[in-house]
Order: sequence, then structure tokens, then C-alpha cells
Amino acid sequence: MTAHVIDGRAYAADLRAQLTDEVRELVAQGAQPGLATVIAGDSYPAHAYERRVRRLAEQLGLRYVRETLPAEVDEADAVAVVGKLGADPRVSGILVLRPLPPQVSEAALYRALDPLKDIEAVHPVNAGLLALGRPRFVPSTPASVFHLLDRYLTESGRDVQHVYQHSNVVLVGRSANVGKPAIMLAMERGATVLSCDVHSYTAGLLYEHTSHADILIVAAGSPGLIHGEHVAEGVIAVDVGINPVNDPDTGKVRLVGDLDFPSVSERGEAITPVPGGVGPITDVWLLRNTIRAARMALGVATARPLLEGMALQPADGLLNVG
Ligand code: NAD
Repeated sequence: MTAHVIDGRAYAADLRAQLTDEVRELVAQGAQPGLATVIAGDSYPAHAYERRVRRLAEQLGLRYVRETLPAEVDEADAVAVVGKLGADPRVSGILVLRPLPPQVSEAALYRALDPLKDIEAVHPVNAGLLALGRPRFVPSTPASVFHLLDRYLTESGRDVQHVYQHSNVVLVGRSANVGKPAIMLAMERGATVLSCDVHSYTAGLLYEHTSHADILIVAAGSPGLIHGEHVAEGVIAVDVGINPVNDPDTGKVRLVGDLDFPSVSERGEAITPVPGGVGPITDVWLLRNTIRAARMALGVATARPLLEGMALQPADGLLNVG
């Protein structure tokens, strides 16, 4: 068996085209979506991500604001910046980029976010709503994982709900921003879910667990952690990992995932590549959440019934709200 390679770039391009239309509609209704990022210090990955989302925001015609803070910024000053963006009506969505400098606690900044602009659902209220299965925003990376899966399963002609309800979904890694919310989304779809982590006492049984997965989602940040021999024939495998490694053939750094792509491809039904799988969708999803926040703000500002109507609509086609 050679796995079908799920093309995240093509899915992302489709989403982007939808968003272009949505922005046009919102502008016609008198709203102008705006994204703000807060970045502290000089982390290379944080700056690279900031550049990507800025470019995308500009391409989609969103307002864009970047608050750049020095690495030695006080926590109180960083909190004040987040609060100021919350009060700014030109800003619909706020992204706090990680890592933060050690003297600034993530929790303090997340609590300072306006929950209606918290597009990564890191404020305790939004994280709680997600855990209850009533998300206001679905964080971009786990949302992308399930966007890929939902669309792949639909396109392969299956009854998507039936597939999830009859699947063992195994997740490797349980960070607050990726693994844990992905667990919620898998449970919400009716799957039998197993969460594996290196910090569990059963970590030594990782490959026993992964070999029982119908759908395997790996978000550990460990290059080539899972090989073909660790998965079942016919698995659908989603690779969230992005790991820079030195390529001995070229002497250059390249990005690889947590799956050993060649050997897992030999056994799987479908696989996401790195790069070109989850990553491109994640970037677009952040903008999608920003546009959603702008629409919610428009509802609050113009007509209460519009907001109430929205609460009855499915959130991002992922879960039900209200
Ligand atoms: P993290 O370091 O915060 O969390 C990793 C999790 O995996 C932790 O729970 C850790 O205990 C667990 N883990 C680590 N090694 C393990 C092992 N050998 N066995 C089992 N569990 C293990 O990282 P994160 O923010 O969740 O990101 C994970 C990976 O996904 C990273 O490579 C990151 O670069 C990538 N990422 C990709 C996207 C994207 O858009 N594709 C977005 C965010 C993160």
C-alpha cells in the first residue's frame, strides 16, 4: 500500500479563497476585520510565523497591527499592551506569539485578552468553552488537523460521522495549544480517543498504542518518532510536528515531521506531509478566526438578534455552539 498524500497547501488555498469573499462581504456590511500580534524578544520561529500571518492578513485585505516588545519587557507593560488592543475597535483578533521572555507569564497575558478577540482560545473562558464542546474559537492547529481529516474522509466517499464513531484515534503529545484541544475535537466527533505522552507511566508502550490507531495524530516535536512498523496497515496519519534537522546529503537544514514519512507511507491509507500538510492550513485558520471575531463584533455592535442567530450556527463546521 502507498498512502495517499493529503495536500494541505491545496486545502489552504481553497480556504483562502473563501475568506477573500467573506472579507468582501464584511466590508460591504461596514466592518473591517483587523489582526493584531504581540511579539516579545527575538525568537526566530515566532518572527517567522509573524511574517507569514502578516503577509496573509495583508493579502486578504485585513488591517494589521504588530506590537513588538523588547525581550526585557515587564509583565505589567506586556499586560497593558494586550489590554490596549482589547479596547481598540479596529482590532478584531489578537495573537500572542510564543515563546515569551521568562519574566512574562503566558497565563497573565492570556487572562488580559478580551475573550471576544482571543482567536487562539487561550483565555480561560474560551479554553473552558472548548472543553465543554461549545467553542467560541477553535485554536488554529488542532482545527487544521480536523479540517484535513474531515475533508479527506468526505472526499474519499465515506460517512464521516460513522468513520469517527468507529475509529480509535490515537494522539501523541498533549500540549495545551495542540494536543489537548485536538483530544477535545476527536472526542466531540464520537471517536474512541487515546492520549499518549512521554510523561505517562505507559510511555514505554507508545508503539503498542500507535499500532492500534485507525487515525493517528502526532504532535510531539520529535523528528521521525513514528515509523511504519509502529502503525497499522491502512492507518490515516496526521503529522503536526515541524522539526529542523541537518540534511547530511546537502549539509543544509530542512524541516521534517514526527512521522518517518517513507515507511509510514508504505503502510498507511493516507498521510499528511511536512512541510505542506497541517502548517499551511494553520496559518489560514488564524485569519479565519479573526474574520469570525469581526463578524461577532459586528453582531454585537449592530443588532442583538444577529448575535443570537450566530449562536445557533455550527462553529467553523467543527462542533455545535449554543
Ligand atoms: P510542545 O513541546 O509544547 O508539546 C509536545 C508534547 O509532546 C508534550 O506533551 C510532550 O510531553 C509530548 N512528547 C514529546 N516527546 C514525546 C514522545 N517521544 N512520546 C510521547 N510524547 C512526547 O509542542 P507543541 O507546541 O504541541 O508542538 C508539537 C510539534 O508540532 C512541534 O514540532 C511544533 O513545531 C509543531 N507545531 C506545528 C504546528 C503546525 O501548524 N503544523 C503548529 C504548532 C506546533
